This record gives sequence, structure tokens and C-alpha cells, in this order.
Amino acid sequence: MKWIIKLVFEAAPGSPVEHDVGMIERAEKISPATAGLTITEGKALLASLQKQIVTAQVEQHVASIKPCPQCGNALRTKGCSQSTLRSVYGNVGMRIRRLRECPCSGSQAHSFSTLVTNKSPITPELRYITAKMAALMPFRKVADFLGELLPLSAQATASTVRNRTMKVGRRLQKSAEVLAAATSNGPCKELLVGFDGGYVRNRQQRPERNFEVVVGKALDRDGHATRFAFVRNGGFEAVSAVGLALRQCGVNKATSAAGFCRQPAVRPAR
Ligand SMILES: [Zn+2]
Repeated sequence: MKWIIKLVFEAAPGSPVEHDVGMIERAEKISPATAGLTITEGKALLASLQKQIVTAQVEQHVASIKPCPQCGNALRTKGCSQSTLRSVYGNVGMRIRRLRECPCSGSQAHSFSTLVTNKSPITPELRYITAKMAALMPFRKVADFLGELLPLSAQATASTVRNRTMKVGRRLQKSAEVLAAATSNGPCKELLVGFDGGYVRNRQQRPERNFEVVVGKALDRDGHATRFAFVRNGGFEAVSAVGLALRQCGVNKATSAAGFCRQPAVRPAR
């Protein structure tokens, strides 16, 4: 048995264009191992689909660029640059065209990209799935796990997983600061702040890889709780995390605050 998988693209109504995506072959006899798509086939099909869809989207975008709104002349091409879109279903190379400003604007020497993107744009879904997995398991395990399911070109190294996760973390931090400013509970008269922490140790016994995580909870008189966490010796980020929590509680100079922390365990003398 054979299945030929095609993608039908209809840029305009009534003008479909077919593209081959892949082919699946099976023996007549079916078993659990041969029923449906294998992971390898699924990855190859998704990568092929992604490549053709993204390529068509970029071409359509370029074709839809309007002539100069002032004089009606078409804008001249300055050339193309290469960019690679990184997505859950694979990396796709894109040719991004640059256009010159129209001479009627008096700035013909200037040019602009037809697609606002950097050299290596990444889809929000790939950022999301990478950061979510990285919150649950070590970076190396995330890279291995995603490699099992995602197309070959979408696979990442442990350092790539780490870098993407750190970027997502920084964006979350910024979003939290914006939200804190918008959702402050008004002036706070009394506040209780509790701290606790623990060490995360590297199993390889390398002291420079150990760090202490401090977590805390701020509780106002009405029972509203705000939680925070930071890495001790984390510098600005630690100060920012505590400051953010206090701003969310509405702390000001008149606030009466008390802090609590767990007493360290006393080890018996040897
Ligand atoms: Zn013009």
C-alpha cells in the first residue's frame, strides 16, 4: 500500500497549486508497529509541510507589497538576505527581500526589509515549549526529549535550551514589573515577609556550580499574599524580585514591615 501526501496551496480562489509533501508505504499485513505514522515519518512530514507553508507565506508577503503611495511607482529591489526561522516543526530558510525607498521621497539611498525580522527569528511556540520543558528537567534532558519528537532541524543543544529559557525568563520578569505597576493593591499599612531557602548542589561536586535559592511570601493585613524567589548572589535580579513583590503589595515609607526566616538547623558537634 502507498500513500502520496500532497499540499494544495490556493493563493487565490480557483487556482490551486499542488506540492508533494511525502510518501508512506506499508505491507498489506498490519501490526501495532506498522499502523499509522511512525515518529520518523511524522517528523519528516511536518518538516516538509512547515518548509512549504513558510516559503509560500514569505513569497505571498513580498507579492502583496504595494507600490509607492505617493507616486504609484513600484519600489526597486536592493537584494535579498538570508534568514532562518526556527519553529517547533523545523528550521526554515527564508530569503528576505530588501527594497529601496522611492525616489519621490528624496531618500532613495535608504532601504528596508520587506519582513521585519532578525537573522534567526524563533516562533513563540518553540520558545514556550522549550522553556516549559526546561522548568521540569535539566537542559540536556530537554534537548534530548525534544529531539525525540521534533524534526531534525528543530533539535537543539543544551546551551540553546538554556539561552532560550533565560530569554523567556527575562521577558517574564519585565511583564511582571509592568503588571505590578498596573495591579498594585494600594498603600499597605502592615506587612509580614517570610523567607526560606535551600541549596541546589551539582552532583559533580564542582563548588562553582552550587547556588542557593531563596523563596519568600509577603502577606498584608487583608491576607493578600505575594510570592517571590531569587538566587542568592543573583545581584540585580534578586533585588528586583523582592522590590517587585513589595510594590505589588503597595509598600511605601509608612508601611510597618516585619521579616521572618527559618532558623538554620544546628548541627551537633563532632
Ligand atoms: Zn514614490
